[in-house]
Amino acid sequence: MIYLDNAATTRVAPEVLESLLPYMAENYGNPSSIYQLGAASRRAVSGAREAVAELIGADAEEIYFTAGGSEADNWALKATAEAYGNKGRHIITTKIEHHAVLHTCRYLERQGFEVTYLDVDRDGLVDPDAVRAAIRPDTILISVMSANNEIGTIEPIAEIGGIARERGIVFHTDAVQAFGQIPIDVKEMKIDMLSASAHKLNGPKGVGCLYIRKGLKIGSFIHGGAQERNRRAGTENVPGIVGFGTAAARAGRIMEEKSGRERELRDYLIARIEKEVPYCRLNGHREKRLPGNVNFSFFFIEGESLLIRLDMEGICASSGSACTSGSLDPSHVLLAIGLKHEEAHGSLRLSLSEENTKEELDAVVEAVKKNVSLLRDMSPLYEDFVKNKKEAYHV
Ligand SMILES: *Cc1c(COP(=O)(O)O)cnc(C)c1O
Repeated sequence: MIYLDNAATTRVAPEVLESLLPYMAENYGNPSSIYQLGAASRRAVSGAREAVAELIGADAEEIYFTAGGSEADNWALKATAEAYGNKGRHIITTKIEHHAVLHTCRYLERQGFEVTYLDVDRDGLVDPDAVRAAIRPDTILISVMSANNEIGTIEPIAEIGGIARERGIVFHTDAVQAFGQIPIDVKEMKIDMLSASAHKLNGPKGVGCLYIRKGLKIGSFIHGGAQERNRRAGTENVPGIVGFGTAAARAGRIMEEKSGRERELRDYLIARIEKEVPYCRLNGHREKRLPGNVNFSFFFIEGESLLIRLDMEGICASSGSACTSGSLDPSHVLLAIGLKHEEAHGSLRLSLSEENTKEELDAVVEAVKKNVSLLRDMSPLYEDFVKNKKEAYHV
């Protein structure tokens, strides 16, 4: 099997698994209990909190563990709307956010909030000047993702953070794809809230965090006990949190080496595909791009058909967002960067890890070449194109 879907989820690293297992077995104490067994869990959770905080230059008290990235996004947006709703009812976000942000914005619109969805350019970049221009006296929140999960484009977060801080507007970033992959400093980048998720950095699924800058008046999302300094009730997912902590420490330790290796593999794969597969387009910014992200549109074919054929050859990939697979709607991200429906449908995301090899990528290029060509032979769109040389595509 060749696994190239690390943007959807990653394999738990051996040291992460080893660190969390004792907290599923012998160290099963509730962190809220006062006896030794509980205290051991409490210490483990607080160690993890420090490791997660350190990765983004936050203080440990600013990290609130959640059940993943989606919960962190929901919490950030809904709680800001609730806390600042009397000050204003306008929110600024972008058209390329993850559904955890977009669908929460739709929900808030139904609650009477107004949302501006900013356009992005052909590479998926948000223009900080467009953010500035969208600000109104009643704007209470700006939410822009750190890096896009489909096309890998890295957004100018520090600039947008500066604009938000200058105007006294809360700035949230969904950093689920960026956290542990590229350097982030919440203080330097003037980030007020940040979402992260363990399973995107070789940690366990179902655990993540929301960073909330000290002093921000953000209410609790889950009501109940006093866990997470009264802001997120529920007995802590101790094994998950411990695993998240180990994954964060590991990510910080290996970031430079890992990203260097992934960039090399990524650029090799991009170069080969561009050279050897005709009528394709690289989606996302060429340089401002996550180290492990490759996303192509292959014109005249269906990405889903290509995926199935690659799967039969043992290759795990994705056609855009994992959350939209199973639906026939083209990816909202690919439409936002200006692709036509039929172009967006022919997209393939290959997201690498540092463990992939050039030999694997060579096999993937051969499989992509062969199957794209087979699918084009069956495609009426392609036949039409060859016959008429219509300028209907961005070829
Ligand atoms: C995966 C992902 C999420 C959701 O995180 P979960 O932990 O799976 O809920 C949110 N935003 C982005 C950008 C993601 O890639």
